[in-house]
This record gives sequence, C-alpha cells and structure tokens, in this order.
Amino acid sequence: MLMQRRLLLAAPFLAVIPRAHAQAPLAVTASFSILADMTRQIGGARVSVSAIVGPDVDSHGFQARPSDASALRDAALVVRNGIGFEPWLDRLLGASRPRGLVVTASEGIAPRTIAGARRAPDPHGWQDLGRAATYVANIETGLIAADPSGAGVYREGASAYRARLAALDAWVRGEIATVPEARRKIITSHDALGYFAEAYGVTFLAPQRMAAHGEPSAAALGALIRQARAERISAIFLENAGSPAILERLAREAGMAVRGRLYADALSAASGPAATYEAMFRHNVTLMVPAMRGNAG
Ligand SMILES: [Zn+2]
Repeated sequence: MLMQRRLLLAAPFLAVIPRAHAQAPLAVTASFSILADMTRQIGGARVSVSAIVGPDVDSHGFQARPSDASALRDAALVVRNGIGFEPWLDRLLGASRPRGLVVTASEGIAPRTIAGARRAPDPHGWQDLGRAATYVANIETGLIAADPSGAGVYREGASAYRARLAALDAWVRGEIATVPEARRKIITSHDALGYFAEAYGVTFLAPQRMAAHGEPSAAALGALIRQARAERISAIFLENAGSPAILERLAREAGMAVRGRLYADALSAASGPAATYEAMFRHNVTLMVPAMRGNAG
C-alpha cells in the first residue's frame, strides 16, 4: 500500500524528468580549444563544451590541475586529438576513469612524419582543412554515440560544418595561388604547420622542433638566419602559444621584422582574431599571403 502511494506521488515528477533531461545540454570536455570549437560547431545548443587547455595556452607543456580530472570524469563525451598531442590527458584518463565516452578526433587520418632527428608522427592534423573533415566525422560519431536521440541534430550540424570547411579550403588555395611559388616560405616559432605546408604548398622553417622544447642551439639559430638571408625570406611569424623570445632574437639578429602572430595550437580568446577554428584559418592566411609576397623569392 505504502509502495503504491509513493509511486503515485512520484508519478508527476517522473513525467517531468524526460523532458528536462532532453533539454539539458550534453556535457563534453575537449582537450584543447580547437576541438572544443569544432564540437560546438557540430552540436550547437545541444552541447555544453569546455576545453581543458584554453585559448592562447600551449598544449605541449600543459600541466593538468585536479579540477581537470573531475571535468573528465563528469563529461558524457571526452574529445581528444590523439597522435601523442596530449600525453597529460592520457595520464589523467588512466587516473580518473571517465563516465562517458572518449573519442579520438584524428582517428583515420594518415599522419605525416615530423622531419628531423626524431621521426615522430605529427599531431597537428587540424592544420589541413581536408583532414579536418575526418576530425568532424569522428566528433559527429562520438556525439551520436553519447547522445543517440540527438543524431539528427549532429548529422545536420556536421554536414553544414564540413561544407563550410570545404569552402574555406578552396579560399585558402585561391589565396596561396596568388603568391609566386618561389616566395611561399615562412619562418615561424614551432613546427606546428607541417600539415598546412603539405596541403597548401607553403614551406615553413622553424628554429625549434616541437619535440625539443626550449632554446635552440646557437648553431641551429645561426643556420636558420643564414638560410633566411640566402633565401631572402622576410615572412617571420610568432605563434600565439609559444615563447616569442627565440623568434624575436632571430628577427633582430637577421635584421628582419616579425610580421605578426599566427594561431597554430590554440585559438585566441573570444574577443581576439581567432576565436573559432574557421576564424583562425582566415586570420593566418590573411597574414601569411602579403608577407610571402614580400619575400624576395
Ligand atoms: Zn604544437
């Protein structure tokens, strides 16, 4: 008898719960700002996305905080890049088993290899808009697995987003095509743009290999300055998440000016020029193209 009364009392609340649940956005934790934006573009109002490594922060040297472990544990979906980009995240996932699913956004792309002594796979796959289509498909699959009743929303969001990225890819190719081939060279602070180089036919020279952080040797810096002079490259850029000291020193020693700040491994804050992944590409290419035209070639 008592049981029945309880059920009756509970019934009106039970009726409310499914609706309230359907309206609560899906909690997604992305490892860094670019994946968080991609997930928001696909999921729209149906998702609530936080990034562990926020705007303008270097993911490579990131130190996780205790609050990051709880953000991972409580997420319905965790989105990571993979290809060794987030060793700190792999450690966190080992320590705090997440309740939700984990999706690896880069799964299925053919990784390029970083040139140099350490022939490691390059994790910066998002720097090629073509490969980004695979990222979008993986995030879409993850969202649908974590929230099957939203499948229609995620499919529609992903398809519209892929179309925008394809249009952006065509725009980038058109812009780069306006620079004579011999002048398509840029010096930047770390090796994050290898996929961009491969996809769009631009050569990047970096004084610092991403596997070896810190100051490059005097010899390495000297070699780069000689190369910049010999090839008459004046397109020198800093990256938002890296240390500016090395590039500024290089530019000073070579008597050249730093041409601006590229966004490679992190977006800018919402008020900055690269608040979304698409804005990041437009910003970078808009700076690169006139700077490359200024190379003596
Ligand atoms: Zn990087």
